[in-house]
Amino acid sequence: MNRINGHTSLLGLLGYPVAHTLSPLIHNSLAEYYGDDLVYLPFEVKEEDLENAVKGAFSLGIRGLNCTVPHKSAVTEYLERIDPMAEAIGAVNTLVRGEKGYIGYNTDHLGLLEAMRREDIPVEGEKVLILGAGGAARAVAAMCASQHAGRIVIANRSLEKAEALAEMAGKLGDVPAEGVRFTGLYEKLEGAEWLAIQCTSVGLAPDDDGCILTGENKRVFSLIHTGVDLIYKPAETVFLRQLRQDGKKTMNGARMLLYQGVIAYEMWKGIWNGQISTEQKILDEIFANLDKES
Ligand code: NAP
Repeated sequence: MNRINGHTSLLGLLGYPVAHTLSPLIHNSLAEYYGDDLVYLPFEVKEEDLENAVKGAFSLGIRGLNCTVPHKSAVTEYLERIDPMAEAIGAVNTLVRGEKGYIGYNTDHLGLLEAMRREDIPVEGEKVLILGAGGAARAVAAMCASQHAGRIVIANRSLEKAEALAEMAGKLGDVPAEGVRFTGLYEKLEGAEWLAIQCTSVGLAPDDDGCILTGENKRVFSLIHTGVDLIYKPAETVFLRQLRQDGKKTMNGARMLLYQGVIAYEMWKGIWNGQISTEQKILDEIFANLDKES
């Protein structure tokens, strides 16, 4: 605290609630590593106060912001401009200062892509099964489409959302994409080998015993060669445990969380060039601290 002075700049998070957030740990660690004179703080902002919060933050000179639940879509109304990928996804999680307002980006899809690259999980040409069609699944579908997945199947409890998302992904990447219900999923996958990305909140703590593939859908496990779960708490969901026990490759959402934050920070710093440039040693240090805190 003693180092805060007249030159210190501010970064922050807009969300509701925000008390649980791990973002300050990521960004304040990065500020320390880079020797940047700035502080990252969470701001609890209710939906009805979002417009004032965004405009007020810009007037106050706040250098950059993250947006989380429930503001990721609504915030797009109050920005100078939106990056085309964030627009396709329909959600913004990072605001970077422009001339007259903030510019909105989505670093969730970039964070996941970076995490998968580093774990050697390719998307190009893959048959991708996306489980869920909520906000996070939108970023995942856009990432898979833009990375030229060979085919995309989106399974969701509510069919309309799955179909709408498949339409978006299909247009974005010129890739065959279809939305389906969970009923009869095994047959719809036609025996192929799938990269499955679990994007529902089923299995998220405290629902640690939950798994989106139950009953007859347990057969779907046998069609998956690699499983990614966006959930990082617990570190290993029932979905991932089953796949690991079957000898399949698995990855949880912790690295995605870290990299979406690091990419946002590099955007605020003006050093983001499509690849993370923060040293691996620092990434690993922050990752270990995230692991302890989550
Ligand atoms: P969301 O917009 O609320 O979407 C939730 C999804 O889960 C929807 O597809 C919903 O289906 C499905 N779902 C919820 N309960 C279900 C149930 N009982 N049975 C079947 N489907 C169910 O949430 P989100 O923002 O997309 O987040 C989803 C997950 O991703 C969360 O666990 C979140 O923690 C994780 N996440 C991780 C990161 C990361 O950085 N690692 C980033 C973002 C999100 P319906 O559409 O039918 O309701």
